[in-house]
Amino acid sequence: MKVTLLGTGAALLDPDRGHTSIAVQVAEKTYVLDIGTGATRKMIEAFIDPLSVEALFLTHLHFDHTADLPAFIIGSWMSDRQTTPVIYGPEGTSVFVGHLFEGGAFDVDITARAKYPQRQSNLNVLKPDVRMMQPGGIFEDDRLRVTALPVDHIPPEICPCYGLKLETDTKTVVFSGDTTALPEMVEFAEGCDLLIHEATFPEAAIQFRADNGIGTFSHTSPLELGRIARDAGVKNLIATHIGHWDSTNPIVRKLAAKHMSVEIMGPELIEQVVDDIRQSYVGPIQIAKDLTTIYV
Ligand SMILES: [Zn+2]
Ligand SMILES: [Zn+2]
Repeated sequence: MKVTLLGTGAALLDPDRGHTSIAVQVAEKTYVLDIGTGATRKMIEAFIDPLSVEALFLTHLHFDHTADLPAFIIGSWMSDRQTTPVIYGPEGTSVFVGHLFEGGAFDVDITARAKYPQRQSNLNVLKPDVRMMQPGGIFEDDRLRVTALPVDHIPPEICPCYGLKLETDTKTVVFSGDTTALPEMVEFAEGCDLLIHEATFPEAAIQFRADNGIGTFSHTSPLELGRIARDAGVKNLIATHIGHWDSTNPIVRKLAAKHMSVEIMGPELIEQVVDDIRQSYVGPIQIAKDLTTIYV
């Protein structure tokens, strides 16, 4: 498996970090986990053909995990994709997708472009095959099996949220999605070759949020992540969904000021976060960057 992190930021807009998306390539096919803003452009930057995407998996319906879907679908249609895209997502995904294309938000765009005869042969691309994600095995083909784990992020009555495990015959990659530190993640990720786990805020920002009553406390801290990675015995760890705390951009820092103390922000925090994870976990670790690529 070749794993490419297309976007590694949290929900703020950040020139250095796109919104969450991960491309997993097995042989000539691509499987995409989440499709946050800019993901399709990043695929092309990483020389991944969007037309090679076999299936898309949405861990939850926050916009930083879904907002590039119109660009991906309409762009694929314009690029003469023939096969109907397959999208796995939590309850609510059918409604979300149903509001986007013909008769929805992009109806005018589609009506205008569909005037060209060459765009009329593959209108099926604009009607994705949406399948409901549920706990357990959700997908299998001759290359890959995908299993979903319910995680704790948005209240489930608003949107069920999932982590995902991708397995070939020989390798296993686990992606946490957005979640608090979950005991169940230890078993789910046990012995995996690569765990890509969110670590949205450093300990100091979590304290700031607690002191100021901000946020939903629905993420995993570096200390917690270290314990999960240690207890699961993962062979390689990537911390992602980085909450912009390493940014030096003055506008990002201004926009982030409600989420954390701006004085603590900066690249020097990366070392602190790694140290906190290392208090428990001693294996290989990377703090994600956009276009980080890992061969598993
Ligand atoms: Zn997110
Ligand atoms: Zn989220």
